[in-house]
Formats: sequence, C-alpha cells, structure tokens
Amino acid sequence: MMDQQEKMHDLIGVGIGPFNLSLSALLDEIEDVSKVFFEQKEQFNWHPGMLIEGTKMQVPFIADLVTMADPTNKYSFLNYISKNDRMYQFYFLQRLDIPRREYNDYCQWVANQLESCRFNHRVTDIRHIKDNGEYFEVAVHDLAKDETSVYRARNLVMGTGSVPVMPKSFRGLPKQDVFHTADFLPNQERCRAANSVTVVGSGQSAAETFRELLKEQRDCGFRLDWITRSAGFASMEESKLSLEHFSPDYVNYFYQLPQHQKEEIFANQGLYYKGISNHTINDIYNLLYEYSIGQEELQVGLQVLSEVRDIQPKNEGNGYELTCYHWQKKEEFTHESDIVIAATGYKPYVPDFVHHLEDFLEWDDDGRYKVTSDYRLKKQKTTENEIYVHSGISHTHGVGSTNLGLSVHRNKVIINHLLGREVYPLPKQSIFQSFTV
Ligand SMILES: Cc1cc2nc3c(=O)[nH]c(=O)nc-3n(C[C@H](O)[C@H](O)[C@H](O)COP(=O)(O)OP(=O)(O)OC[C@H]3O[C@@H](n4cnc5c(N)ncnc54)[C@H](O)[C@@H]3O)c2cc1C
Repeated sequence: MMDQQEKMHDLIGVGIGPFNLSLSALLDEIEDVSKVFFEQKEQFNWHPGMLIEGTKMQVPFIADLVTMADPTNKYSFLNYISKNDRMYQFYFLQRLDIPRREYNDYCQWVANQLESCRFNHRVTDIRHIKDNGEYFEVAVHDLAKDETSVYRARNLVMGTGSVPVMPKSFRGLPKQDVFHTADFLPNQERCRAANSVTVVGSGQSAAETFRELLKEQRDCGFRLDWITRSAGFASMEESKLSLEHFSPDYVNYFYQLPQHQKEEIFANQGLYYKGISNHTINDIYNLLYEYSIGQEELQVGLQVLSEVRDIQPKNEGNGYELTCYHWQKKEEFTHESDIVIAATGYKPYVPDFVHHLEDFLEWDDDGRYKVTSDYRLKKQKTTENEIYVHSGISHTHGVGSTNLGLSVHRNKVIINHLLGREVYPLPKQSIFQSFTV
C-alpha cells in the first residue's frame, strides 16, 4: 500500500469543526473520493468552554451534519438517537432545539466513525506545487508523535472556524481572572469562590454566562455585574420571516451585490446573529424577579451604554479596577471586580500559512481573499486545483456564513463541484419571500 505521505488525495481538509465534519460525513459513502481531514484538537469538541448545561442549539436538529442533504444518511441526528436507544425519550421531549451538549455528543459519535478524520494533527503549511503534475503540498504536524509529514492533494477545504476576540484592554492580565467566555467552564469554580464577577458584552454568550452565574450567585455569595457598551440587552431577531435570511436564496442574492453594499448591509444585520435569544432573556428576567421578592437590594447590576476602556489590578492586589465610559452621558466611572469575563465575540480564523499563497490567490483591497459563489478561493493562476472554503466568507456570502443551518447546503455545492456532477440537487426556491425583483 502506498504510504500516506506519497498518496495523492482528491481532498485534504484543514480543521474539523461542524462544517468540515459535515463534509467528511457526506463524502464518507462516496468511495471514489480519496480524502483526509486534519484537526489539531485531540478529539472533536465544539466550543467546550461554553457547553453549559441547559444551553441549547439556535438551529433545529434538522440542521445536523447530513439531513438537509440526505435524510437517509446514517450519520443523521435521528440515527444517533436511535443507535443510543433514546428514541422514546426524544419523542416525549418534543423539542427541535436540542441541548448544545447533545449536539457535541452527536458530532463526536459521527467523528469517531469517520476514517477520514485525523485528530491531534495540526496543518502548519500549504504550498502549491507545479512539477510533473499540479497539486498542493500540506505540512501536517502530528502532535502526539511530535513529527511533521507532508501530504499531497489536488484540492483543499479550509474549515478553520473562528477564534475568541479579547479587546486590547483585557489582554496581558492573569488568565484565571480576566478571560473570554470561550474559557468559562474551566474557570467556573473560580467564579464560585470570588467576591465579585463581571461579564462584559451583550451577545448570546454573555447572556448564557450571566444566566449561569446568576443561578449560583445567591448561594455562592458573589456580587454579579453585567456591563455592555450597547444601548440595551437587545433580543435576537428570531421571527420566521427574518430567519429566511439564513437561506440559500438570501446567500445567492447577497453574493451578487457590489462589495460596498455588502459591507453596509452586513454591518446592519447584527440582530440576526448577535443579539440574545428571547428565551435566555426571559430566564434572566424571571430569576431577577424571583430574587427581588422581599429583598431591598440585589447584589446584581446590569449596566448599559458603558464601554470598559481599561482594566488595572487594584493596588491592594485583590481584584481589578475597570475604567468605564458612559458614551451617552460622556462620563467616566470606575467599577471593581475580582473576575472579569469578556463576552467580546469571535473573529474568523485564517491561518498565516494561507498568506504564503499570496501570489496564488486573489485578494481584495482589505487583504481578504476573494471567493467564488460556489465557495472556491479565487486564483491568480490557471490551475484545476481548488481551495474550497467555509471560514472567513462573511464579506462575500453574508450573514449566514457561520450558521449551522447553511453548512450542509454549502457542502452540497462543494461536493457537486468537486465531483463535477450533481450528487446533490440544490433547491430552486428555499423560502417564501423574494429578495430580488
Ligand atoms: C458558543 C457558540 C455557540 C454557537 N451556537 C450556534 C448555534 O446554535 N447555531 C449556529 O448556527 N451557529 C452557532 N455558532 C456559530 C457556528 O456555527 C460555530 O462557530 C461553528 O463551530 C462553526 O463551525 P466551523 O467548522 O467553521 O469551525 P469551528 O467549530 O471553529 O472549528 C474549526 C476547527 O479548526 C481547527 N483548526 C484551526 N486551524 C487548524 C490547523 N491549522 N490545523 C488543524 N486544525 C485547525 C480548530 O482547532 C477547530 O476545531 C456558535 C458559536 C459559538 C462560539
């Protein structure tokens, strides 16, 4: 048998989050495609620091890894339920929005069955080679063996996801005291032992973290604060017609708009994905109301319109002083807290080695790669080798780019292109409203 390093694969995948895991699952039964996917983590683990008990998916379970392409695929969520002998419990549960912990368990169940998925392997470089043939050379570091090998493929697919964003003023402080929501669960015990905890930001992660802390706040006895620069704790736009923005039709409409218009539209769509789910706000309000019964003062604060501009350790060495700015009153104030949790979002992760392909790819004026409508990076060179892409495509494909409900659709498009035939038919019209004339 040919050594793995020498073999020419049809496809190498970089990163195994839900997007590439879905692609790997859909390709599993297509035998004439040789593929391998690499992931640096030891095993599939979906945002582990935020797998808080009681949190749920923001998409129905139908948006699993395969169902939207083929409901009979053996890697469907319902088959996972069936194989785990939980069909009746799931039936009586009567919910479309499954627990986030269950989604992770389901993805692990799929990943463990897929031969093409290699964990503990970090891709460290990519080069396009033209010798007797044309292909990509991919350097992969095996983290368990501490060895680097070179793999070859005609095509690549980037699924490197996103990484947490820490504002400048939050950096360089002890990580056990000032951390991102992505690291919440490993630090929850420290929050329980603290005198005061502050959550900064007002998206879904902020609200879920605040709700979890609020549940324990009275028993553990810490003061809890929630500070946001936003004008309010705004709820996510969740009406059915608004959700149609996460459809193939809207992606197609958005894609063909001029770039300046895309930037403008995307900047105004925050509430489709950045706000807080109504049910989370309700939970928080209900808890606050219960706590306020018979209490003169709650040890809980919710502060809007205020930006945290600086965080400094207090002179006495205990806790931190936050310098905040109320931008409507134009007034500075200070706030003290033992622990500060930055719920300050994520940004697309484009590994540095993609920039080694500077002369191979086309870039826009802002240094972002250009993407075709069918999810291939645009190339300066004429070659049949393609780099398909899931990550960092909001500037071209819009608000649905990170949504799990569109991931299988994108993989259908990618598979059809990769195989050069219509393996999966695409929907002609996926929604009721019309975005174009
Ligand atoms: C807490 C949270 C909850 C979310 N909930 C929802 C939801 O309910 N519904 C929804 O639609 N969306 C949700 N999202 C948004 C989105 O669906 C997720 O971010 C999703 O994980 C994106 O999948 P992905 O495959 O692009 O990337 P990721 O899950 O980020 O995975 C990328 C993987 O690539 C790996 N990687 C990166 N570089 C390399 C390399 N060089 N070599 C090897 N591996 C590499 C990383 O280790 C990582 O595991 C949520 C996001 C967060 C943060």
